[in-house]
Amino acid sequence: MARSDHGVTPQSEDFSAWYNELVPKAQLADRGPVRGTMVIRPYGYRLWELLQAEIDRRIKDTGHQNAYFPLLIPESFLRREAEHVEGFAPELAVVTHAGGKELEEPLIIRPTSETVIGEMMAKWISSHRDLPLLLNQWANMVRWELRPRLFLRTTEFLWQEGHTAHADEADAMRETMLALELYAEVARDVAAMPVVLGEKTPGERFAGAQRTFTIEGMMRDGRALQAGTSHFMGTNFAKAFGIQYTAESGQLELCHTTSWGMSTRMIGGIIMTHGDDQGLVLPPRLAPYQVVIVPIGRDEQWDAVVAAARDLAARLAAAGIRVHTDEREQLSPGFKFNDWELRGAPVRLELGPRDLAAGTAVMVRRLGDAGKEQIALADAPGILAGVLEEFQEFLRRRATEFRDSHTQVVDDWDSFTRAVSGGWALAFHCGQPSCEDDIKAQTAATPRCIPLDGPPETGICIYCDAPSAYGKRLIFGRAY
Ligand SMILES: [Zn+2]
Repeated sequence: MARSDHGVTPQSEDFSAWYNELVPKAQLADRGPVRGTMVIRPYGYRLWELLQAEIDRRIKDTGHQNAYFPLLIPESFLRREAEHVEGFAPELAVVTHAGGKELEEPLIIRPTSETVIGEMMAKWISSHRDLPLLLNQWANMVRWELRPRLFLRTTEFLWQEGHTAHADEADAMRETMLALELYAEVARDVAAMPVVLGEKTPGERFAGAQRTFTIEGMMRDGRALQAGTSHFMGTNFAKAFGIQYTAESGQLELCHTTSWGMSTRMIGGIIMTHGDDQGLVLPPRLAPYQVVIVPIGRDEQWDAVVAAARDLAARLAAAGIRVHTDEREQLSPGFKFNDWELRGAPVRLELGPRDLAAGTAVMVRRLGDAGKEQIALADAPGILAGVLEEFQEFLRRRATEFRDSHTQVVDDWDSFTRAVSGGWALAFHCGQPSCEDDIKAQTAATPRCIPLDGPPETGICIYCDAPSAYGKRLIFGRAY
């Protein structure tokens, strides 16, 4: 198989191999000793921290508070909500021994925390004055993965999970949509990943939810990635855990609850939305290093260019730019250029003795037609702030154009199969789960969502010709 200069299989040749080779090579993450586990390396963890900060700020700005709940959950808790336990059973890791003996009741390592949080909510909520209760937790989860892939499907992963309780259905639905909008904003404005907001069909709902909403992004191989979900639970968990309150009337009522999550999976989405044959392309708002300075010079010149590079870095940092100076002496400039392309730094600055004498540096963007550009060192902070903003917007526009040009409205089966082989199809569906299964068996495509902003339309099912359900077209695609 042909390889690029950096030893990664080109994306255009084998997308899956490209991804699997790139993630460790770019030093984002490595496979852990236990199959399915992931070691997040500092470069990948910094990316996660930056994403986490953007999500966390929005969660707090909308009135939620962070808390922390235990990793271990009594097995009996999961059984209290029948659909919930059935949905999660195949993925559970169970602790049967501890303290040197067999436990009376096995403990589950949390796959999600509705049950333990529901138990505590029941204890804390008694009056309508205690509502709404708006909680969020940042934590690790364990769901046993049979086909693991770094970031996308790992047995242990990191996420936030919002859990809220409300007096009535309308308030809980508002919350469900608020979380969905929050995720869409993070994806679009921070990760430069345009997403479709939609509702899952009953077959794709979260185990125990009454309604599940999703944001779906398109990866550069045309597949869909579910990048965040928000669930309206109705009173399902309130019934199972006794989450109730005394209304103003004095009547005892069940709460309506929600939960919503975004995880380290999103990093996989960022890699697959923007990356190319040369490697990662990171959106400036999440790039651990937005600018990398490569000093170039031999022997007696080296000290002078390094000193100038450090001075430039300090001025960029003072302007709020995340910058790194690559001072590795044993490596050639060419190697460093390739390395930072592979690792997705949005902008590179080359600084040699001649540049230094002229008071300039050579600026190279990770993507685009601009080529090499001379910039004045004196003006560098202002110029780079603008270039980074433009680059962020360029990535978002490019991803949006890619998605739109790989999405087709289809009304016949041949067009459907062609559309989902390299992108998304907008098609009518009858709403029958067995029909969804048949489509999946034949094409590997599933209904990704019923798009919220899809125009009202009716027709006949793309597969079985029965009348369409949902009052609009669904998005179908192959998914991660
Ligand atoms: Zn059908």
